[in-house]
Amino acid sequence: MDHVNDDSRIRRNPLGSPVVAMIGGGQLARMTHQSAVALGQTLRVLAADPQDPAAQVTPDVVIGSHDDPDAVRRAAVGADVMTFDHEHVPPEILLELESAGVAVRPRASALIHAQDKLVMRRALAEIGAPVPPFTGVDSVDDVRRFHAEQEGWIVLKAARGGYDGRGVWMPDSLEEAERIATEQLDAGVPMMAEARVPWIRELSALVARSPFGQGAVWPVVETVQRDGICAVVVAPATGLPDDLRSAVQATALRLAEHLDVTGVMAVELFEVTGSDDRPGVLVNELAMRPHNSGHWTMDGATTSQFEQHLRAVLDYPLGSTVPTAPVTVMANVLGAAQAPEMSMDERVHHLGARFPHAKVHLYGKSERPGRKIGHVNVLADPGVDPDDAEQVATIRAVAEHAAHWLSHGEWADGWDPHTGAPVGDFDR
Ligand code: ADP
Repeated sequence: MDHVNDDSRIRRNPLGSPVVAMIGGGQLARMTHQSAVALGQTLRVLAADPQDPAAQVTPDVVIGSHDDPDAVRRAAVGADVMTFDHEHVPPEILLELESAGVAVRPRASALIHAQDKLVMRRALAEIGAPVPPFTGVDSVDDVRRFHAEQEGWIVLKAARGGYDGRGVWMPDSLEEAERIATEQLDAGVPMMAEARVPWIRELSALVARSPFGQGAVWPVVETVQRDGICAVVVAPATGLPDDLRSAVQATALRLAEHLDVTGVMAVELFEVTGSDDRPGVLVNELAMRPHNSGHWTMDGATTSQFEQHLRAVLDYPLGSTVPTAPVTVMANVLGAAQAPEMSMDERVHHLGARFPHAKVHLYGKSERPGRKIGHVNVLADPGVDPDDAEQVATIRAVAEHAAHWLSHGEWADGWDPHTGAPVGDFDR
């Protein structure tokens, strides 16, 4: 590992500012790069392809795979710290780098909780965090037993490697559950099962923690998933009772501390009705990197999750998380079933004409059905009440119309760009 400290091939940062190596060249790295630019830092990315979203924009690119030890070692050479856009880096590689003196943040021992859902569930249950009933699945018998215990209301999950709903199954019958478990176990996929939760809505609590131990938390948001993919985020979650909001934020900070997380962590939760009929939450997932549920912070918070991630992994003081608007709605731009003929640039142009206040973030990705290719943030005016469902719905409608337009090249409400006649409360 001598070469870890050999900086002969490093593009020096002229300000002497840090070089942060990020594993993965996707949109999260691309948006982290934007913050690195502002802070005068260099973001190096390990990207699989020169056309990856982040590889297009940073001059410091190492081409290789996140699971190739040699590529990950090359990305670490001369970097001040290594962090992740992509969580599924084999722990053995990270442990090797840690013992060679590389600052890997979060460390492999923390990251495992975002890589393996079963390890995460066990750790959370141990520290008393609220989680749905769950079990490891080593055989179809485990599925039969758990299916009976939960009276058929179960979810099967791949413990490792899933994302955007891939690796999550909701079987409607015991036969279906047995078939899925058999197929996956035969293919060598580590499996778990958990109770199917009758949640009211999905929430996310985004926090950051530095190695020094400073913590920061943004407002708790609502996330809306379609086909297992995040479609919309409403920040803050409308009408969330104060005591529940504080409890969720405290739980997220406690988890970050307990798991020794460094950097940004998203805690995805289910809002449920507790046995006493009061609202409560269960933790679903952890992500230890900037997260889709935090994209709203790029425009809607004093410090974005991307800047905060850099500050946290470099052990800087953390930035203010105070929102810049009473409500921000983020809508993902997902590739349409049939990509429109109109160029993306022309769509952006038209969007600007209808909604001059919508903030567009595109990832430089080609359009494929369901693929996350960008997002739009829409901020509410200062007078808007974040707990007024009707006012929030109007802002959400703008964000969703804007995102639909960018992916489909069609206004879902029939708006005509040539007459520009207002069709909704939100045309202004
Ligand atoms: P991924 O890692 O692919 O995002 P998740 O575990 O977050 O997978 O599950 C994806 C979606 O499936 C969740 O956002 C939620 O809508 C639904 N889901 C997951 N687990 C449960 C559960 N135990 N009960 C009910 N719905 C669930």
